[in-house]
Amino acid sequence: MFGSFQQKKYDTIVVGNAGLGCAMAYRLKSMDKSLKIAIIGPAARKGSATTTAGAMINVWAELSPGQFDNPALADRAELTISSGKLWDDYCKELSAAASDDISIKWGTYVLENSQSSPHERRTMDFMLKVLRERQIEHRIVNPEDIKFLKPEYRSETQRSVWVPDGRIDSRKVLEVYEKAFRNMGVDQIDSTVEGLLINGSDRAVKLADGTVLKGKNIVLANGSFAQALVDQVPEIRNATPRLLWGAGSGVDLSFPNWITRDGGGIERNILDMDAVIRTTDRGGACGVHVVPYGNGQYYLGASSGVWFEPEHKARVHAIDVLLRSAVQEINYGFFFANMELRGPGFRPTTVDAFPLLGESHVPGIWFANGTKRDGFTCSPHIANELCAQMLGKRQSRLPERFKPSRKVISYKTREAALDDAVAGNIGGEYQHGLRLPPYAVDGYYKQKRAQYEAIYEKRNFSEFGIHPEVLHIYDNDTFFNAVDIPRELN
Ligand SMILES: Cc1cc2nc3c(=O)[nH]c(=O)nc-3n(C[C@H](O)[C@H](O)[C@H](O)COP(=O)(O)OP(=O)(O)OC[C@H]3O[C@@H](n4cnc5c(N)ncnc54)[C@H](O)[C@@H]3O)c2cc1C
Repeated sequence: MFGSFQQKKYDTIVVGNAGLGCAMAYRLKSMDKSLKIAIIGPAARKGSATTTAGAMINVWAELSPGQFDNPALADRAELTISSGKLWDDYCKELSAAASDDISIKWGTYVLENSQSSPHERRTMDFMLKVLRERQIEHRIVNPEDIKFLKPEYRSETQRSVWVPDGRIDSRKVLEVYEKAFRNMGVDQIDSTVEGLLINGSDRAVKLADGTVLKGKNIVLANGSFAQALVDQVPEIRNATPRLLWGAGSGVDLSFPNWITRDGGGIERNILDMDAVIRTTDRGGACGVHVVPYGNGQYYLGASSGVWFEPEHKARVHAIDVLLRSAVQEINYGFFFANMELRGPGFRPTTVDAFPLLGESHVPGIWFANGTKRDGFTCSPHIANELCAQMLGKRQSRLPERFKPSRKVISYKTREAALDDAVAGNIGGEYQHGLRLPPYAVDGYYKQKRAQYEAIYEKRNFSEFGIHPEVLHIYDNDTFFNAVDIPRELN
């Protein structure tokens, strides 16, 4: 049926071996030990978002103003909120399955400082309002009481809030999954899937060496890379919002032994960092964040830019902003740190920035994808729901609106999307050095808005709101033609 290659049969083939793929393979096998499951992906995981992530279990600090006024954005937030609650038990379960030990360290300080844009201030207000309304434990903290917070005087912290977001090393979690798979009998295949084969009711994948594996179900959990497979099946391609490349890099910071051991040269408070410290989302990126790994090791993240094609090298301006922010806004001791680039990895970002979760309209082809900025956090919840549905145990409780075969979802309304695009852009430009005399600020806002409105006019969109982070995709004719499938509004 699929040629003369050697064929092997599975119940489910999971394409992609990082956060989402591993969560899916693990949950399927733990729900039904008799299943034959294969998880396929290259051991090096080049370009993986998961291995480039900090990884924060980021729930509350990722909220943005108006989040719960729009049904799709509200559903998106509830994905992380539901997931955050699962992680402690999930780590215990994984630890037992792998005979290893992982756990979440809870606690994140969210900062607003003199570098924050007006949009960031509104974001902080909004986050606090939601925390109060939902009676989520949080504390407004005097910045001076955060001993490892030592910004330069020009970046003084104005507000700091402790929230119950957490952290864990995503690379360690992947290691634990791999051990669990060995114990449970999940086939781990170190290869890439190059073909998605659909023939009547048969489903199969073709690996780089030509091997064909048949599966009753195939899960596309290989992040942005899945688009190359989707493109092979026009029936799916034309009905599914396109996956773009949400490129992001981080920096691993560390201090040399003579500093960590002998305490030379810097104030030791920086070595005692015991919680994530971050700004809110900033200029369309996930805010500057430092994640402590202990022993003078830190992750500094993260840059963000959505591209139509992958760029496998980090950009100078992105790393420049990160390094400056760490030194100026978090702790000037980082001036003396050693550094190594992490990434780029690609946040699987659809053209509406909403996820693709569930079975496509082609039976047996599933998506656990499009999770963008917080997919690592969401992975246990997404896997619980998709696997229960795949095995016929119950309906998934994931929002129907995020199923993969769907129209492109509007980001708020045209006017609100334009407001957010301008606010986000200016936050980003400030980080890249924009300085305006006060009398020029209004003019700058108006000029940006007019520039963005022209994109809407060109595409004839009177109601549809374009997600601010993908506006440039709609501006470019070639890109627009490739992403132009039916939208829920026009
Ligand atoms: C810089 C950065 C920071 C982030 N920080 C956070 C954070 O703090 N918290 C959080 O929750 N989220 C964070 N995210 C987002 C999060 O990483 C993603 O949403 C999530 O990890 C996506 O996981 P995934 O498994 O879908 O994709 P990926 O992690 O991209 O994994 C895809 C996998 O598929 C494999 N693959 C590729 N092509 C093929 C093929 N043809 N066949 C088989 N396998 C293939 C790849 O090698 C890779 O291992 C961050 C992302 C980035 C880039």
